[in-house]
Amino acid sequence: RNGAAGGTKPVIELSDVAFGYTASPVVEDISLTIDEGEYVAVVGPNGSGKSTLMRLMLGLLRPDSGVAKLFGEPSHTFDDGARIGYVAQHASASKKMPITVREVVKMGRFPHVGFGRLSADDWAIVDDALETVGMSAFADRRVTQLSGGQRQRAFIARALAGEADLLVLDEPTVGVDAESVEAFYDLLESLNDDGITVLLIEHDLSAVTEQAERVVCLNREIYFDGPTSEFVESDALARAFGTAANFVGGSR
Ligand code: ADP
Repeated sequence: RNGAAGGTKPVIELSDVAFGYTASPVVEDISLTIDEGEYVAVVGPNGSGKSTLMRLMLGLLRPDSGVAKLFGEPSHTFDDGARIGYVAQHASASKKMPITVREVVKMGRFPHVGFGRLSADDWAIVDDALETVGMSAFADRRVTQLSGGQRQRAFIARALAGEADLLVLDEPTVGVDAESVEAFYDLLESLNDDGITVLLIEHDLSAVTEQAERVVCLNREIYFDGPTSEFVESDALARAFGTAANFVGGSR
């Protein structure tokens, strides 16, 4: 499975990237390419540099050495934010946001309409996005009234309304009830089938091994980068995680 687009255009390219917040590097020797249409999971123990790597990929941090590119441009100068849909852990998302689901999804159009009025076509895109994630019936509900899983779907719909071609999700199912988790990953899979590149930062190994076609296992350096089936067979997990055995099996 390589998405409908199935192309080999690189979305993210890191060459020999190193970065540290202080003198000592938090990540180093990082070289990897993620192509259009891939579904990649980045796994690693707490503090292994997953979030840092994501920030480097998205240009929110600049490498101390090496090169990070996003859609072929240096990541830190890339400015077409609508192409990237970012979904954070819901816990950090939105107690302070008493707006409706439709209003959240509408924001996805802002980069396209320049804060102008949405046209009928824009609203059709918003409605399509709501339907794709199965949230049409909740369009007028306030996001504060949603379950964790519904809220994550609303944020995915916002990315779809923005016509994102890269979805980046940072442990998106933390705090989402077990029943909704399955459906949530099914949604990611179907979006990936439609050609959207999915980059999942994940602590829950069961989700990773069920869904992602490629695993990048990180602990400061890359311990493994390859097909999920090979990752499961390899000793990369034990090497990268050491005694962090509580990781194995995930948090579900
Ligand atoms: P993960 O996402 O895998 O838990 P992080 O990338 O958040 O890992 O953190 C990697 C290391 O970098 C940790 O030791 C963390 O304490 C440190 N770190 C993360 N963010 C900052 C920051 N803003 N300033 C200084 N140190 C940081």
